[in-house]
Order: sequence, then structure tokens, then C-alpha cells
Amino acid sequence: MRVSKLFTKTLKNSPADEVAKNAQLLIRAGYVYKEMAGVYAYLPLGLRVVEKIKQVVREEMNAIDSNELTMTGLQRKEVWEKTGRWDDKTVDVWFKTALQDGTVLGLGWSHEEPIVEMMKHYVSSYKDLPVSLYQFQTKMRNELRAKSGIMRGREFVMKDMYSFHSTKEDLDDYYNRSIEAYKRAYARLGLGDDTYVTFASGGAFTKFSHEFQTICDAGEDVIYLHREKNIAVNEEVIDDAVKELDISRDELEKVKTAEVGNIFNFGSQKTDEMGLYYTDSEGRRQSLYVGSYGIGITRVMGVIAEKMSDSKGLIWPDNIAPYKVYLVSIGENGSKKADEIYKRLTEEGIEVLYDDREERPGAKFADSELLGIPYRLTISDRSVENGQCEFTARKSGETLLIALDDVFTTLEKS
Ligand code: ATP
Ligand code: MG
Repeated sequence: MRVSKLFTKTLKNSPADEVAKNAQLLIRAGYVYKEMAGVYAYLPLGLRVVEKIKQVVREEMNAIDSNELTMTGLQRKEVWEKTGRWDDKTVDVWFKTALQDGTVLGLGWSHEEPIVEMMKHYVSSYKDLPVSLYQFQTKMRNELRAKSGIMRGREFVMKDMYSFHSTKEDLDDYYNRSIEAYKRAYARLGLGDDTYVTFASGGAFTKFSHEFQTICDAGEDVIYLHREKNIAVNEEVIDDAVKELDISRDELEKVKTAEVGNIFNFGSQKTDEMGLYYTDSEGRRQSLYVGSYGIGITRVMGVIAEKMSDSKGLIWPDNIAPYKVYLVSIGENGSKKADEIYKRLTEEGIEVLYDDREERPGAKFADSELLGIPYRLTISDRSVENGQCEFTARKSGETLLIALDDVFTTLEKS
């Protein structure tokens, strides 16, 4: 992509009303546009990052045999009334609306009840189980506070997965497989070292649910951590967990975190309440077991922006970056050579953002740093004379002079 053709604009200053670092950076770098508090549009660069995060998560969910679908944004009141969760006193984040004939509807803040309701049409026999489904959806939540930028949106992208099983044991087994899939996903997103599977307040059947908490100063949660034993507990269940896990509170370190995902074992409570059953091989009606598994896709993006950035701007990990290479041309001969290199890299399938604008080199460098593209290639009149170009890694800031003939192999190795 040529910068001259890209819809984007970098800003010198962040908007005065934006207090969160992640949103300040993402707005300045042209990744998101703030419509209002907690509501952000994703511009072309931002959308590429969202799609890359989704793709990592998609591959890991597919690897545990889940099927992707898309549920609806508009939801029926009757479905949520079955579990008592239509009530604003029970669920305090509902956005509600109505059809022209007065029929009241909800805007999806979760899809737990609607998917259980839907499955009544598709699951009746033990032969239909187990089944796992997931989606990427824009959730609507009337959150009281929205001061954490894209880490807490009133409109945000979530991956939500639901699994349905004929026995408690089968659900437990899948629940454990999903924990491993989540660990792989966060590792691939560059958050593996700082993300802890954390005991949190319970699912319906189990004493605890599990949250995936990433160490982050801008996070809204507090967990207690035992790094050597790899035990993490959300502060809201600390007394219970200390007893249960037989650990002393003094051994635990208090850290600020962001909840990037969580998983719940509902047992058969929700399906029993909503009347979803199956028939076993002897024709008897049986309870059905459900797990629910969320990942905050846009929150993950915010956490990465918070953690992987410096005074110059963003520093995306390679596999999340909107482009791998930022190509800068300087001067007439430099531009001719850069055109060639751009063509070649594009043909080789390397994602390159080519700054072909007639701007000062300093402005191009500053933009490449603000955007956080992992590698920069600078081709100038002088470097072309020597058959070389500059290769700069965003993370370390180190610059090497490499032969123009070696550009491709150097990038392949990086
Ligand atoms: P929180 O305690 O942060 O409000 P939650 O318990 O409401 O989260 P879930 O309803 O289980 O979260 O949603 C699944 C995941 O979606 C969360 O783990 C989080 O990563 C993400 N998430 C939840 N609320 C928001 C939000 N308002 N903005 C962005 N991401 C969110
Ligand atoms: Mg919430």
C-alpha cells in the first residue's frame, strides 16, 4: 500500500478529552476515530490490526473444532426473560430499543441466552453432541464508565464461543482444551509472558471461573500473583481462593491487570432454565452442559497499544502489525529504486507500506515510528549509489546498512 493512497492522517497531539494512553496513541497514529466516549471507529490501519487479532483467535478456535457463525445484534426480550436477565436490575448494561409496532428488543450485550434458544432447533439427540460454536460480534454495553479508551467500549468486538455437551465430564474436558487454546492465542498475540489464568468468581456449577488477566498498569482489575507456582487469583475471590488453594496471602504479589478473556462453566443450569435438553441412546431426556468462552478482541488491541509503545509511538509485534515494513524513499534516484523494491516485496507477499509522499525524511521517519511498523527500509540517493539501504528495527531502534540485494532475505529472517 502506498501512503499517498492510504486513508489516514497522523496528528501531532492527542485530543484533549481522551485520557487513556491506548486511545491517545491510536487516534494520533490514525488507527481509530473517537465518535464519543467508549465508541470508536476503526480506520483502515486499525481494522487491519483487528482482523489480524481475529485471525489468530480464529485459528485457535478452529483447532479445537469450533465452528464460526454470526448471531444477530437485535435480540428478543422473551429469550432473556427465561433466565431473569432482561431486568435492568440484574443486567445493568442493556441498550434497549423497539420496533415501530412497539415490540421491545435488546441490542446484544452477550449471546448466551440467544444461542441456547437457537440450539433448541438444532440439538435434540446425543448424536448432535458435542458441538462448539463461536463468533466475532460487536457487543453493545451501556457501561457506566468509559475512560479506558478501547479497553472499555460501549461498543466493542468480542469473540464469544459456546460449547454444548452431553456430560459434565465432556464439558470439563473441552473447558481444559479451551484453556490451552487461549494460552496459545495470547502467546501468538505477544502477551503470553504477562497473561495469567486467574481464579475468579464462580461459574454456575464450579466454585471458580477462569479469567485471562494480562499485567497492565492501565487495567481495571487487581490480581494476586504467585509467579513461581504460576497461581493467579482475582482480588474479588482472594479469601476463598487462599483457603481452597492452601496458599498464604503473604506469598502473593498484588498487580494491576486487564481481563483479556474469560471462560465459564455453566453446567446445566442455563439449559435447564431455558428448556434445552437432549435424548440419550435409550430415549431418555437428559440435561445438557454448556461452557461460555470470551475474548475481548478490541481490548486486546488496547492492551497491546498500552504495553508495546514508547515516547515515539506504537510498537506492534510482527504478526499483529498492519504492515511488516515501512519503506521510505528519499530523493529522485532513491524513489526510483524504492518503486522497484516496493514492487518486488509486494510480489513476494511481504506487507509493505510505502511512504511515497513528497515529505521531509524526518516527517516520514516520525510517522513510521508513531505507526509502530516493525521494520523500516530507507532508500536514498546516496544509499543507492553505494548499492545499499538502511534497515531499522522499530523495537530496538537499531539501524544497519544492508546491500539492496539482501533486502528480501533480511526481511524473511526478521
Ligand atoms: P469486565 O469485568 O471487564 O467488565 P466482563 O466480565 O463484563 O468484563 P464478559 O462479559 O465475560 O466480561 O466479556 C468477555 C470479554 O470481553 C472480557 O474478558 C473482556 O476481555 C471483554 N470485554 C468485556 N467488556 C468489555 C468492554 N466494555 N469493552 C471492551 N472489552 C470488553
Ligand atoms: Mg463487564
